[in-house]
Amino acid sequence: MKNRPIEFGGESVLPGQQRTIEIPLASMVTQRDLHLSLRVLHGRSPGPCLFVSAAIHGDEINGVEIIRRLLKRKALNRLKGTLVLAPIVNVHGFLAQSRYLPDGRDLNRSFPGSARGTLAGRIAHTFLSEVVNKCTHGIDLHTAARHRDNLPQIRADLNQDETRALATAFGVPVVMHSEIRDGSLRQVAGDNGIPILLYEAGEALRFNEVCIRAGVTGILNVMRTLKMLPPSRAKERAHKPVYSDTSFWVRAPESGIFRAMMPMGAKAAKGSVLGVIADPLGEQEVPVLAPRDGIVIGRTNLPLTHEGEALFHLAEYASKVDLVADRVELFQDNLEPEPGRPDGSGEVPIL
Ligand SMILES: [Zn+2]
Repeated sequence: MKNRPIEFGGESVLPGQQRTIEIPLASMVTQRDLHLSLRVLHGRSPGPCLFVSAAIHGDEINGVEIIRRLLKRKALNRLKGTLVLAPIVNVHGFLAQSRYLPDGRDLNRSFPGSARGTLAGRIAHTFLSEVVNKCTHGIDLHTAARHRDNLPQIRADLNQDETRALATAFGVPVVMHSEIRDGSLRQVAGDNGIPILLYEAGEALRFNEVCIRAGVTGILNVMRTLKMLPPSRAKERAHKPVYSDTSFWVRAPESGIFRAMMPMGAKAAKGSVLGVIADPLGEQEVPVLAPRDGIVIGRTNLPLTHEGEALFHLAEYASKVDLVADRVELFQDNLEPEPGRPDGSGEVPIL
C-alpha cells in the first residue's frame, strides 16, 4: 500500500520525502522570528507516526545530540510510517541555557496550554496541536535537572499494554512506572490515547556518551517494535528491564559539604553509607544512610548541600535488587565508550 502526503505547519510532506519544517513561536524581544524546527521523515509505506522531542526543558541537551545521531542512521532509509523529530522544543530556554521559559514557567507543566494563554501555555498549545496530536506514538527525551544526574531510565504508564511493550523494547535496565498528572506533555499525550515514553538520562547542560548511545539505540528499538523499521540484522543489544513502581529520595539530614560515595547504578543496601556531610574543618562528619534497599537511579553532583535537599534517588525492587544491579552493570559495560574509537555508526564518542 502507498502512503499519502502528511501535513505539518501547513506544509505537505510527500511519501519518501524528508523535510525541515519551521513553525513560528513567540518572537524574540528584538522582534526577530523564532521557530520550532521539525525534521519530518515520511516513509513510502504507511505506518505509525512517531514524534521524538527533546529540550522541552531548555537546558536538557542530551536529547538534542540523540536526535542528531539518529538522523545519520542508514536504517531510516527503510522507514515505514512517519518520524517527526523536534530536537529543541523550548527554543527560548535553550538559547538562555535555562530549564524554563522567559516567563519563568516550566513548559512541561504547562500542557495542554492554549492559544491565548501564558507564553508557556501558547508554546505548549502549538507543540501539542502541530505535532503531538498528529502522531500515534511519542518519545520525550529529558535529563536530570542542573547539578543532578540520572541513570538512563524510562518512565511510563506501565498499566497501558502498548506503552509497557514499548518501554520494555527501548532496552534500558531501569523502567519506572508512573502516572503523575502534572500538566506534562506525557500526561496530555496519554490522555489523548498516545502511548508515550519519557527517557531520562544524564545531567542538564552536559553531554553523556552512555546516555546518548542508549537513547539512539532505544529509539531504533522502539521503531522496530512498531514495525516502522525492519528487524535489526546487527542485533543492537536490548537490555531486559526490571520494572519498579516506587522510588524515593534520600535527603540531607543537615547542611554542609557533601562527599558522595555510592556510584550511579549501584545497589544501596539498607543502612549502607551513601555519603558523608561535613563542616569545612572536618570536625563534624554525618553519614547519609540508605533507609531501605534500592538502586541508585539519580544523584546530586553538587558537593554543597542544605538540610532537606535531595541527594540520592533510589528505586525499589522488592526482592530483585541484586538482579537489577547486575543488569545495570552489564548495560554500563556494554555502552562504555573507548576514547577516540567510533561506535558502529562511525560516531567518535564525546568524553
Ligand atoms: Zn526534563
